[in-house]
Amino acid sequence: GPSAESYRRQHEITVTGDNVPPPFTSFQAIGLPSEILREVLKAGFSHPTPIQAQSWSIAFQSRDIVAIAKTGSGKTLGYLLPAFRHLMRCRNNPQLGPTVLVLSPTRELATQIQDEAVKFGGSSKISSTCLYGGAPKGPQLRDLDRGTHIVVATPGRLNDILQMGRVNLGQISYMVLDEADRMLDMGFEPQIRKIVKEIPARRQTLMYTATWPKEVRKIAADLLVKPVQVNIGNVDE
Ligand code: ADP
Ligand code: MG
Repeated sequence: GPSAESYRRQHEITVTGDNVPPPFTSFQAIGLPSEILREVLKAGFSHPTPIQAQSWSIAFQSRDIVAIAKTGSGKTLGYLLPAFRHLMRCRNNPQLGPTVLVLSPTRELATQIQDEAVKFGGSSKISSTCLYGGAPKGPQLRDLDRGTHIVVATPGRLNDILQMGRVNLGQISYMVLDEADRMLDMGFEPQIRKIVKEIPARRQTLMYTATWPKEVRKIAADLLVKPVQVNIGNVDE
């Protein structure tokens, strides 16, 4: 409708796809579980950022998304809040394996995502485990063994743990590739493809990237199904 269009124009959002739903311009409009809404308000956030407003309405329709947005635009909650909602609906047993996977290029970024997952999901009893290199595997394996809804991982360490047979990705039904362009720049494409082979094809996939070069377009074409594309601001090729 006209209000969705004016919001998009005002916030430099462009969308490509069939029947893209209007953005959620307030937290109250989303219908979040009360524990999660409380955490968001406690964090002092007054409005969704543009990427959040538009990602949430699309992700809530269980559709794939490729979103191109700069650093600092609030992408983390853009994919975590729909992940929480997904978890509340599918109720897998976390002991059998995680349901949500977030791949991130670096230990530092993975740790930040893990912190947000705990901060916003903890009071809803959503558990998250962070796997990254340059640290002993023991504690990470123990966290996995305890059972977890979400895994946040760098591709290298997740592959090592997969090869050890210590994690089962057969229940993953919501996958996020965060900072996809950086993961490819760092040479993680073969690891990403190996990981994806372990994940059921029937899943929702969300890809976030700051730039949109042909390598990223190629992996998006291979891993996503009819994604809605969301651009915030100008796009660097
Ligand atoms: P990106 O992944 O796009 O670089 P982040 O998800 O790390 O961005 O968010 C950047 C900062 O903005 C973080 O400190 C985060 O807590 C904050 N933030 C996220 N959503 C909102 C919001 N709706 N309102 C205000 N601040 C927000
Ligand atoms: Mg980020």
